[in-house]
Order: sequence, then C-alpha cells, then structure tokens
Amino acid sequence: MDYEKFFGEQIEQLQDEGNYRIFADLERMAGEFPRAKAHHGDSVDEIVVWCSNDYLGMAQHPEVLAAMVDATERYGAGAGGTRNIGGTHHEIVLLEQELADLHQKEAALVLTSGWVANLTALCTLGAKLPGAVIVSDAWNHNSMIEGIRAGRCDKVVFRHNDVDHLELILKALPEGTPKIVAFESVYSMDGDIAPIADILEVCERHGALSYIDEVHAVGLYGERGGGVCEREGLMDRVDVIQGTMAKGFGVIGGYVAGSRKMVDFVRSFGPGFIFSTALPPPVAAACRASVAWVKAHPEIREKHQERARALSDRLLSAGLPVMVNQSHIVPVKVGDPVLCRRASDLLEERGHYVQPINYPTVPKGTERLRFTPSPNHDEQMMGSLERAMVAVWKELGLPLSGAESSAA
Ligand code: PLP
Repeated sequence: MDYEKFFGEQIEQLQDEGNYRIFADLERMAGEFPRAKAHHGDSVDEIVVWCSNDYLGMAQHPEVLAAMVDATERYGAGAGGTRNIGGTHHEIVLLEQELADLHQKEAALVLTSGWVANLTALCTLGAKLPGAVIVSDAWNHNSMIEGIRAGRCDKVVFRHNDVDHLELILKALPEGTPKIVAFESVYSMDGDIAPIADILEVCERHGALSYIDEVHAVGLYGERGGGVCEREGLMDRVDVIQGTMAKGFGVIGGYVAGSRKMVDFVRSFGPGFIFSTALPPPVAAACRASVAWVKAHPEIREKHQERARALSDRLLSAGLPVMVNQSHIVPVKVGDPVLCRRASDLLEERGHYVQPINYPTVPKGTERLRFTPSPNHDEQMMGSLERAMVAVWKELGLPLSGAESSAA
C-alpha cells in the first residue's frame, strides 16, 4: 500500500469538505486572559479569545500558579511512574480528598484527563460487570463512546435527553441485568442540560447504576461548584460523577467520584489508571488549589453566568442566530462548514478568536461558532465582538434574523 498517498487523500477530502482543522497558534498571557497573542508566520497580533474552556480563567489565578511553582520547587516536575510503580504522590491523595468532598462522596480517583477518566471507568464497568448493558445518551461525548466500545459489553443508545425512551429501553432488559445509564449534565456544543432528576428516578426504578459526566459543569454550578447535580440537590443519588480539572478548574486531569468500593474497583481494574503515569505533583497541587478556591467563591459562578447572559442577549438583539439554552455556552449557528471557517477567519482579522465548530464535532448543517465568555470578558470586549459579528454576517450574506432554536 502507498501509505503516504492514502494519508494525503484522506486529508484532501477533509479540506474539500471544509472540515480540515487548522489550529490557531496562540500565546496565552498569564494575568491578561482572555487576551492572547496570535502568531501568523512572522507577525504577532493581539486578540481576545472567546472559545476557551478555561471557563473561569482559573488557569491564570495567582493561587493556582503559586501552588504549581511551589510544588515544582519542592517535588520536581514529574510523578516518576504509574501509581503502582512510583507510589502515589501525597499531593494526589490530598487532591482526591478535595474532590470527594466537592461531590460529597466517599472517595475519588484522579486520572490524567477527563477523556481518560471516562474511557477507563466505563470500559472497566462494562467489561467487568457480568452481562452488563450500558445505556448511553445519543449525544454522549467521544470519551464515553470509546469507553463503552473498549468494554465490549452490550450498548443501547437512548434519544438525547428522552427519559421516556430511556425507560422503555430499561424496561425491555431482562430482570437482573446489570445496567449502567451514562449521560452528561451540560452538553457542551448546544449548552442544553439533562433532566437529571427524571433520569435518576428511572435509574432507581430499574436498578440501574447512574453515571454522569459533569465535565462542563464542575466549578461552574452549585453552591460550591459541585456541578448541576449539586445545584439540583442530586449528588447523593448519582452513583458515579465524572469530571475534569481542565475546564472550570483551569488545569488538567480527570476523575471519578462515588462510593469507596466503586472507586477502589476502577483503581484496581482500570487499564487507563493502572498502566499510565500519574499526574505530576505540581499539576495535582495546582488542581487542588483551584478546586479549593472555586469551592469557596460562589461569586465567580454568579459573574460567569451573568457574563454569558450578557453576551447572549447582546448578540440576540443584534439579530444574530444564537442557539438559546439554559447554560453558560453561547453557540451561534452558521450552518455551513466553509462559511463557518470563513466567519472565524474574518473575526480573527478584527481581533476576536473563536474556533469554527464543524462536523464531526456537531452534525453537518449545524456548524456554529461557540462562545464561552468568562468572568473576565468585559463590556468593551463584548461591544467590539458584537460589531465585528454583525459586519462579518453582512460580508458573508448570512441572515440576521435572530434566535435559532437549538437542535436539542
Ligand atoms: N467529557 C466531555 C463531555 C467533554 O466535552 C470532554 C472534553 O471536552 C471530556 C469529557 C474530556 O475531558 P478532558 O478535556 O479533561 O480530557
């Protein structure tokens, strides 16, 4: 086989469809977020970043930076191996206690990313529970889909957020079948929120283990940032809460939280935990500082929600097709991959960076720009973005007719 020819043809196909991914060459600036430098060959421009998942700007928080620097000087840069081989660094033990406390669970297990946490936990549960069936929301993230696939158990998909469909599926499974219902709280591309209480009720009625991905909610919702489950008083009813430290907490790393036995089970059998080097101690220290700070500062969550509403309202009143939803995510529909890329390029020329979201991240025909304003995005930035968006929409001949209903 001519491997190079094959690789080239596949890439060309993506380019022809307008789905080839081009990364922005950015330099984040500590203390200046959301301002950043954008490199274009030899030139460097200053831009405002609108699409970061560092939702609260915690990646530059002085206490987080100080914890990371201090831990680097004390412990060095790396963990020294998997936790089986190199030992568990004390910073990770403390971080797991902090996370278990955040979710009011008996225990938590830290993995190297949210993706690895989902892959490992679902694959382990699916593979080891005898005859298990995983019932998965149709919009679940790739990390859950890959985890379910890797566990090689049976899988049934329920229509997105459709509790009646979920119940029909559970009812049809033979009595005594181990069942895991896997879903998310905030779906990150449309910003819609799952009917968690209803899903849990159905799980309880049918003896299913509930598994929720709160990746786009931890740090952001609930009195202490425990996610939508905390906000809705449901944390004690969910069996497995999965989260990340890369978004609301601004660093990196993933985790699952739940009963001591469930966590010990994933620790003892999960390949993505057993066979992969642990998070570096300075990273664990930065994560812990971030979680502790975010827990104690509900005002940052209020400011975050207020900024998201302010941007959504502003773009809507300018006639832009905002896909209105209940969360902090502000998607604006374009509906075409080439125009979506072009809109992103034209905005960048005007000093605003927002990544185009194209297939396969979202279904074809629903291509969009996805804005995630943080507490640091001020009125002046929002005004400038609004003017730039209207100019770009006019230049591309896109309609300025207002709200777009979400696909949810
Ligand atoms: N789960 C969901 C719903 C996600 O959107 C993502 C990443 O964006 C992940 C899990 C993976 O988390 P991480 O970025 O920490 O690997």
